[in-house]
Amino acid sequence: MDQADKLSVCLTFDFDGMCSWGEVMNQYSPTPMSRGEFAARVAVPRLLKLLAREQVKAAFFIPGHTVDTFPELCGQILDEGHEIGHHGYFHEGPVNLDEAAERQMLEAGLAAMERRLDGYVPVGYRSPAFDLSNNTTKLLIEYGFRYDTSMMAQDFEPYWCRTGDSMPRDRAYEFGPEIELVEVPVSWSLDDFIQLEFVTSPGVFLPGAHNPRDLETRWLDDLDFAAEEVPGGVYTMTFHPEVIGRGARIRVVENMIRRARERGAEITTPAVVAERWAKTAPARQKARVGA
Ligand SMILES: [Zn+2]
Repeated sequence: MDQADKLSVCLTFDFDGMCSWGEVMNQYSPTPMSRGEFAARVAVPRLLKLLAREQVKAAFFIPGHTVDTFPELCGQILDEGHEIGHHGYFHEGPVNLDEAAERQMLEAGLAAMERRLDGYVPVGYRSPAFDLSNNTTKLLIEYGFRYDTSMMAQDFEPYWCRTGDSMPRDRAYEFGPEIELVEVPVSWSLDDFIQLEFVTSPGVFLPGAHNPRDLETRWLDDLDFAAEEVPGGVYTMTFHPEVIGRGARIRVVENMIRRARERGAEITTPAVVAERWAKTAPARQKARVGA
């Protein structure tokens, strides 16, 4: 298969640690904290062992709070050749932050990595809960990021992000200009947390009742589809170590690696995909009204 036609498979792991339980679920008692601790104590080391054995590189999106809490493990992730991306400081979703607060969040996450990981500077950002504010993309450019991986306007192809979109109620949607920030798209349907974890707290209820084998079938069906129908595309799977690294579920990751290889796909990181795509990407579009 021509390199240009190969599917890229990105195995991405949102290593949230304790802070997502506090920020998203508003749970601070010992058992939710232990669910976050499990990721660092068991799941990430188990995943690193698997990735090393299979000789594949992955991306870990990590809040600054988790970097500060588990600096040695985060250092090990880098030492083993994986990518680390920005994921907020305290797992803050930017959608409700004003610009000053969003800047503070970005700076705090960057500072934690610089402080704890020998000056490491991430090139990618994934927002907690896959949502952005209207300022996010322009701020990511300003802070030197090369790509975002939180949006869903494509399923298996990167695209240029925009800034300045608006949605008036009395006329067509207005598309802002495309900017030099690559989107490596994601999807809730390719995310393990919402489907496998039992969570109940005010405003949040996740039954966590899916069978991992059924999910694996759906996820591998999408991988097959992308390999067959989207030459040169990218398949981005969002895992969470505390979810997929618990017990037998980790077999899903092994089977995904196996299927990617059977399909002739390249398992790589979103930073590699974004850089490669940007080199041959279509020209960026100016602002326009309507499609
Ligand atoms: Zn997260």
